Amino acid sequence: LPPILDGRPRAAEIRAEVAALSAEFDAAGVRPRLAVVVATEDESTAWYVRSLARAAEKSGPACDIVRLPADSLPERIGEALERLSADPAVHGIILQTPLPEGSVAAELAAALDPDKDVDGANPLSLGRLAAKLPAFAPATAEAVVQLLDFHRVPLSGRTVAVVGRSTVVGKPLAHLLLDRDATVTVAHSRTADLAAVTRQADIVVAAAGRIGLVTAEHLRQGAVVVDVGTNPTPEGGLAGDVDASAAERAAAVSPVPGGVGPITTALLLRHTVLAARRAAGM
Ligand code: NAD
Repeated sequence: LPPILDGRPRAAEIRAEVAALSAEFDAAGVRPRLAVVVATEDESTAWYVRSLARAAEKSGPACDIVRLPADSLPERIGEALERLSADPAVHGIILQTPLPEGSVAAELAAALDPDKDVDGANPLSLGRLAAKLPAFAPATAEAVVQLLDFHRVPLSGRTVAVVGRSTVVGKPLAHLLLDRDATVTVAHSRTADLAAVTRQADIVVAAAGRIGLVTAEHLRQGAVVVDVGTNPTPEGGLAGDVDASAAERAAAVSPVPGGVGPITTALLLRHTVLAARRAAGM
């Protein structure tokens, strides 16, 4: 196992697959199309959406950024999602967070056509995932599993501590890991003794959005650590949830940036192309 779990090689594989699948549409004069609904002025969101659009254009799918005012009412955002769901030229839809005050992501995402719900945001998708029925998983949760698979970290029978219980990362990831026969513990902000929980785990996934939360103290010797956190630093950079001290005990740690993030982006494109194929009856 390399000490650094690089996500970029797996992301490159997925993008190559996306490019090959996209090329199959050329003859039909159709282009897989992703729409990203953005209702925030947040700088790091703008940066992320631009990088997603660039990645899309490079591997084939079109990417439309649908901008709404940062003070949009939920009704307005819901209308946009309904319009895109009904538009046959659009195959994948992402509702970007953060949302304006008064809007609840899971509530609005219920308006997404589940067939176009490429980031698994519709509660229906999460329910189907929990019931082991076909659905798009939230891309970040799926990316964690793909990163571990790529680096041949076994999951079956191993203990995994997931730090964070959000609807977009922690909860769906727990389902995906259970489906791979891991023994999963989900910790969160009210967990009494986080270090005691994570020290039991063969694999620790940090998805709390707290810089430096997971330190060497939180790890057993030889643990594998996946860092999902993407926290903006005052210097304008990006920092994960895992402290540098983790390297003293961990067998391997995923970097931020360059770990889960690139795979997440590639999977959103993969889901979009798969949705387009299904819509075209391919
Ligand atoms: P969230 O704020 O919705 O959820 C955070 C979770 O962490 C909560 O369940 C909370 O209980 C838990 N938590 C907070 N503080 C804690 C503490 N001190 N100890 C234990 N648990 C604690 O965040 P989210 O949307 O799930 O995102 C988590 C992180 O992952 C963020 O940094 C976010 O930017 C990042 N993220 C990355 C990607 C990616 O593609 N790499 C995608 C989505 C989110």
